[in-house]
Amino acid sequence: MFVDSHCHLSFPELAGRIDAIRADMAAARVDKALCICTTLEEFETVHALARRFDNFWCSAGVHPDNEGVREPGVEDLVALAGRPRVVAIGETGLDYYRLGDRSLDEMAWQRDRFRIHIRAARATGLPLVIHTRSASADTLRILREEGGDEVGGVFHCFTETLDVARAALDLGFYVSFSGIVTFKNATELQDVARFVPLDRCLIETDSPYLAPVPFRGKTNTPALVPYVAAKLAELKDVALEVVAEATTSNFESLFKTSSKT
Ligand SMILES: [Zn+2]
Ligand SMILES: [Zn+2]
Repeated sequence: MFVDSHCHLSFPELAGRIDAIRADMAAARVDKALCICTTLEEFETVHALARRFDNFWCSAGVHPDNEGVREPGVEDLVALAGRPRVVAIGETGLDYYRLGDRSLDEMAWQRDRFRIHIRAARATGLPLVIHTRSASADTLRILREEGGDEVGGVFHCFTETLDVARAALDLGFYVSFSGIVTFKNATELQDVARFVPLDRCLIETDSPYLAPVPFRGKTNTPALVPYVAAKLAELKDVALEVVAEATTSNFESLFKTSSKT
């Protein structure tokens, strides 16, 4: 019934707990999950999950926060994208939140890496999983410059403004909501969730982080994604089933999982 469009089951908090995680998912009627890759070094572990379980798929990419890891070239990503059950390029994007004492000029490597992911997505036709934090103007600019709208994708774990949501929708992207939308103080994001049309919404956990209320602060797992769906249903004043059905069908439209065995 529900789909978790973004989780990190290979992270230390969750690795080794896969049987319990899957049992909890089944009990919560979470039928599918997209396992997200954040480094080339991690890819084989994430990919193994998608190979082992027929309701898991995975992405290929290097997260903008990861420094001191292998830098991907377009050809590396294209090769990984050709492997079975790989349905997306990412997560990629820009994150200026942890700039420290660095200037934006010094973050050129992040922008270069992002461009490489967009080129790989265009070369393979796979959609992009976009991570953007404190960097929305550059994220949108580079997406436009590189023709990211030709492949589309999702702005995951959305925490930006209504204007950024509008720009993402205009570029043909989906907007994915995480447990943050359930937080009491997330009133601006809740307005964004009311605004984004249901046929462009996805839901995710971003496990192991960002557990929704009433589990805030605990370790998150895909089984908690119905709490995100329930909050969207409340904000949009529709039945839970309507949100479940729409987000599941949007997931299939974007990632085409049923044809990628
Ligand atoms: Zn992210
Ligand atoms: Zn993530």
